Amino acid sequence: MSNTSFRLSLVVPVYNEEESIDAFIAAIDDELAPLKDQLEIVFVNDGSRDRTREVVEQAIARDPRVTLVNLARNFGKEAALTAGLHQAQGDAVVPMDVDLQDPPALILEFVKLWQSGDYDTVYGIRVDRSADTPMKRLTAGGFYRFFNALSSQTKLPENAGDFRLIDRRVVEAIKQLPERNRFMKGLFAWAGFRSVGVPYERPARHAGETKFNYWKLWNFALDGLLSFSSWPLRVWSYVGVGVSAVAFLYILKIITQVIFFGIDVPGYASLMSVVLFLGGIQLISLGIIGEYIGRMFVEVKQRPVYLIEGVYGEYARRTEPQAQSKEQGEA
Ligand code: UDP
Ligand code: MG
Repeated sequence: MSNTSFRLSLVVPVYNEEESIDAFIAAIDDELAPLKDQLEIVFVNDGSRDRTREVVEQAIARDPRVTLVNLARNFGKEAALTAGLHQAQGDAVVPMDVDLQDPPALILEFVKLWQSGDYDTVYGIRVDRSADTPMKRLTAGGFYRFFNALSSQTKLPENAGDFRLIDRRVVEAIKQLPERNRFMKGLFAWAGFRSVGVPYERPARHAGETKFNYWKLWNFALDGLLSFSSWPLRVWSYVGVGVSAVAFLYILKIITQVIFFGIDVPGYASLMSVVLFLGGIQLISLGIIGEYIGRMFVEVKQRPVYLIEGVYGEYARRTEPQAQSKEQGEA
């Protein structure tokens, strides 16, 4: 695509972001002025409890490029992004945060690379994470390394978030994926196609607070890891072989001792260590199996990833949301 007649969709999940939305739109108007008439802005309201919905509705009244996908409750950022991808109509889609941590100006660079025709995905790489706490940087770095070590097929580019430009082809591929557990970064990487990274400095949040505490991040990391690797499940056969080998040697030692030196009663310490050690190992491995079964349970139930309360905006009316048009087709 080498002309300028393409349409670009920004997909923006919002959860309790009433004070960020207007600043976001102003920054888009300002920094993406060259793409002004080609933009569609899809806000996905992820069950906010503040005035987020009203603020987006006011934006719709002023600006026909704005669409609101209003979810029935808080489904989480990954689900909200998925809903946004289904609504987006553009030839390319840019998922981004509303807090201006993903600098809109960078999108011009994404577009330039995409328009060169050499790439289907252009992702941002955070080179300077000084806006994040040292703890967050450390754990994030560790996660990417661990993920890539365990996942044999899908490799995550280090320090890349969801902020990227994806071509319609890739969007359609992602929309086909049926899974309920949607670790978007992983799904984008899984799809492959030709991709390239653009380094940028990630600024601090414009207003409000992060919606992710460490417990949420831990569960997010676990979801990502377990949906892209079965290694944590399989490693226990090897642990089992190792423990059995050690146990066998120890048994040989005890038997020889008994035969040559008679029965030696004291043994409280060694008995306790073995019992506790093996008990611990068994509980851990059971727990890991539980993690997978829990996720399989979620997948098997086949509940939808999100529920839409309604889709609002000029552009939405012209194009009919996916879910509704599908139902009408079946009726
Ligand atoms: N978000 C969401 N649903 C949630 C949590 C967050 O839609 O349950 C949105 C949030 O409004 C923001 C984006 O996801 O636009 C990123 O959130 P945040 O800035 O809190 O994450 P961080 O940048 O701290 O990783
Ligand atoms: Mg943020």
